[in-house]
Amino acid sequence: MAGTGLWDDEYDVVVAGSGAGAMTGALTAASHGLRTAVLEKTSVLGGTSAYSGAAVWLPGTGVQERAGVGDSAESARTYLRALLGEDADGRQEAFLATAPEVADFLERDPAIEFEWRPFPDYFAAPGRMDMGRSFVPLDLPAERLGDLASLVRPPVDRDRAGRGHAAAPLSQGRALIGRLLLALTNTGNATVRTGTRLRALVVEDGRVAGVEAETADGPVRIRARRGVLLAAGGFEGNGAMRAEHGVPGSAAWSMAPAGANTGDPILAAVAAGAAVDLMDQAWWCPGVEDEKGGGCFTLGFRGGLVVDSTGRRFANESLPYDRMGREMAAAPERVPAYVVFDSRHGGALPAISIPSLPSSAWVRADTLGELAEKLGLPADALTAAVERFNGFARDGVDADFHRGEDPYDLFFADRSGNAGPNPCLVPVDRPPYHAARLVLSDLGTKGGLRTDTEGRVLDGGSRPIAGLYAAGNSSASFAGRVYPGPGVPIGSAMVFAYRAVKDIVKIGDS
Ligand SMILES: Cc1cc2nc3c(=O)[nH]c(=O)nc-3n(C[C@H](O)[C@H](O)[C@H](O)COP(=O)(O)OP(=O)(O)OC[C@H]3O[C@@H](n4cnc5c(N)ncnc54)[C@H](O)[C@@H]3O)c2cc1C
Repeated sequence: MAGTGLWDDEYDVVVAGSGAGAMTGALTAASHGLRTAVLEKTSVLGGTSAYSGAAVWLPGTGVQERAGVGDSAESARTYLRALLGEDADGRQEAFLATAPEVADFLERDPAIEFEWRPFPDYFAAPGRMDMGRSFVPLDLPAERLGDLASLVRPPVDRDRAGRGHAAAPLSQGRALIGRLLLALTNTGNATVRTGTRLRALVVEDGRVAGVEAETADGPVRIRARRGVLLAAGGFEGNGAMRAEHGVPGSAAWSMAPAGANTGDPILAAVAAGAAVDLMDQAWWCPGVEDEKGGGCFTLGFRGGLVVDSTGRRFANESLPYDRMGREMAAAPERVPAYVVFDSRHGGALPAISIPSLPSSAWVRADTLGELAEKLGLPADALTAAVERFNGFARDGVDADFHRGEDPYDLFFADRSGNAGPNPCLVPVDRPPYHAARLVLSDLGTKGGLRTDTEGRVLDGGSRPIAGLYAAGNSSASFAGRVYPGPGVPIGSAMVFAYRAVKDIVKIGDS
């Protein structure tokens, strides 16, 4: 935390980070005529949000109404209450009340268009939408962004391989970031500064008055006349912080862009007196391991079975990915785990992995015994697990873990005739056999700065720190230890960034 001094630059609102929450906050500020700066540590915009599928869980908006899917704030409230319990700090209600307003605000901008897509909510609980309530941005032709397109982070497969942009429309997370960037640029009130890493907050008279940042040209002090919004991801990429707070998994297995989310803004706020919460939590997922030891987000299993290092199954493989990740985190012998599958799909992984890996990435063997030996697993246990599983596939009932009994399981099921009576139970009986190593990956940590309904960062006495706001994975999630449905990370980041800036605007007007 730095003291008073000269400023190198001055804005009304300074936003740290450039994911979906940051860009929504910046757009809200700039649309209200506030001079706004977006500070992004890396050379490109969008962070993990750009890698994402950009499913946005904002219930009860005009988007679902257009699609005629029967979603409502009431059913979402029922669902959230069932999963999260009482709304002790009011953030569930704040979220529900603001979700339609955010969608409406964004869609009023000619640069932004959404459509509902089916993707089931993640829990069988009252208020669930079996085909989901999240929506996505429409693809964005790169020409609409012009030179700005090169500012958006490339898709994860190209980015990890060190390849830049492809000449293709921006889709999913890149479409969301691209559309927000276009809208933000069109306001004429915003400056986007890449290569600018927030490292400290400047506090004057008990109020956050600006930030200190590092750039290639040296440190800069940037004044924020009205407020600072920290929406700069979690600390998933910081091994020391993960260890300190006991976050299962590892920085190497996380899906965040390399070097991006190391928690510096969280630490800067803590140095200014902020309190933190949920610091051992993440949005988890299984990840098939790539050749460099990284994790590739794996979901939508439509075949195979998953065993632990004792060769036994331990969960319904078709569980929503955060729930499967939590199953993995529950016992040390489950990390790594192994997806065991046969050759019916030509040796392709019977699941979606992001990025996808070639079949050469898997261990292959002609018999289960040989496969077990190659993996270092007990052959008897693995063979017994596969035989038992194949029996379930014949009967159509997973007596151990109930795979195939939930709409989410069925959403990804193999409908091509490989399965028997239960489309989620595909026998594993066509050699050669394959196994992929599954590590505990994550889409980001979800513990961070404690905030209130307005996204105001709270101190240890639950008092707001004047001038300081947080959203997205820089803040402790309103969803606590639960991942309710597709799009909650991004949807909640957008809502609380929007509410934060509305609070900044309101204070300025009063
Ligand atoms: C493949 C994949 C698919 C996903 N699909 C979905 C989905 O469909 N829906 C959904 O809701 N979630 C999805 N997620 C999860 C979601 O993308 C993230 O949880 C969410 O985007 C995090 O948003 P954020 O703004 O907190 O962080 P990010 O989007 O990661 O943005 C943080 C930014 O802050 C920058 N930054 C960090 N430190 C500093 C600093 N000191 N100064 C300045 N800048 C800094 C980083 O470089 C980064 O650009 C997915 C994730 C992955 C990997």
